[in-house]
Amino acid sequence: MTGATLTPEQSTAFAEPVLAWFDVHGRKHLPWQQNKTPYRVWVSEIMLQQTQVATVIGYYEKFMASYASLQDLAQASQDDVLAHWSGLGYYARARNLHACAKRVMEQHNGELPQNLEQLMDLPGIGRSTAGAILSLSLGQSHAILDGNVKRVLARHYAVAGWPGKTDVLKRLWSLSEAVTPAQRTADFNQAMMDIGATLCTRTQPDCQRCPISHSCQALAAGQPTQYPGRKPKKQTPIKQTVMLALENPDGAHLLERRPPTGIWGGLWSLPEVQEVAQIDRWLGDAGLVAQGSPHSTMRFRHTFSHYHLDIDVQALSVNVSDQSVLEAAERVWYNSGPLPGGVAAPVSKILNSLVGELL
Ligand code: SF4
Repeated sequence: MTGATLTPEQSTAFAEPVLAWFDVHGRKHLPWQQNKTPYRVWVSEIMLQQTQVATVIGYYEKFMASYASLQDLAQASQDDVLAHWSGLGYYARARNLHACAKRVMEQHNGELPQNLEQLMDLPGIGRSTAGAILSLSLGQSHAILDGNVKRVLARHYAVAGWPGKTDVLKRLWSLSEAVTPAQRTADFNQAMMDIGATLCTRTQPDCQRCPISHSCQALAAGQPTQYPGRKPKKQTPIKQTVMLALENPDGAHLLERRPPTGIWGGLWSLPEVQEVAQIDRWLGDAGLVAQGSPHSTMRFRHTFSHYHLDIDVQALSVNVSDQSVLEAAERVWYNSGPLPGGVAAPVSKILNSLVGELL
């Protein structure tokens, strides 16, 4: 397919079977599809950005039980919001959600704007998310292009190339706009996301049950999984870190809050140094005295989207020589029971092994 736009007949031939499929097979009972408001749809869209529906449901229900309205979310502490996100990953989403709620309170009287451009001005809300919020909650007619929709369109129209490239993305947006009907946009958008998630899956598309298989170009060529094109391969870098499992005479472990930006921003974590040789100096700066020598108690790899992190956990008993240094920094001694706020997944794995199941 070249850059040509679709004729009205081609657009209708695409949208009609998609809508007919939605009437029979589309998902209509997800928690965020009940009592639809821009706020409820917004939270679900942010959670669904990098996480599967089945995982999101439980988190979403707990989140809504705590923050039933945007005002509730804006008034919560960041720690509390991050604690609700613990385990979902990609914590920038939670920080943006929280920052965005505060901004909406200040600039939009606590109501999410009902206009695409104003929504896209808010932190963490891109064009597709803004289109989804306005179409799904208010029935406005806007195209969307999340990962699922990209895959369906790239296959159906055999759009070659990686969607991270500007020209490929532009082509997919223009196709999405062309096929999105002015009427029943919410059902259509939901159907496209559902088809991508349940039929046109990444590795095993179920083309026999797909409502647009009759005109799918990738299927006709016998190569659905060749689309969309893969990201050009780059070697994933490996970084190293040493996490300190410092235990005081009461059996508690020292946690410190990470800086607000960067990986696991604002979450509680174990203290870190780059290499074992730096431990003594770190202890001195923190007003702690080692009792014995550190020893490696766990080693494992945590993989982020753009690098691997090899974590070496060094355990060590310590005494406090200068309490005032500890109190000045954002640090706590953690024994057991509820944590002070959100904790990154690998850190809760380490704490589980050090102090048993977390409450
Ligand atoms: S026919 Fe197959 S490859 Fe084409 S859109 Fe449907 S599920 Fe995807």
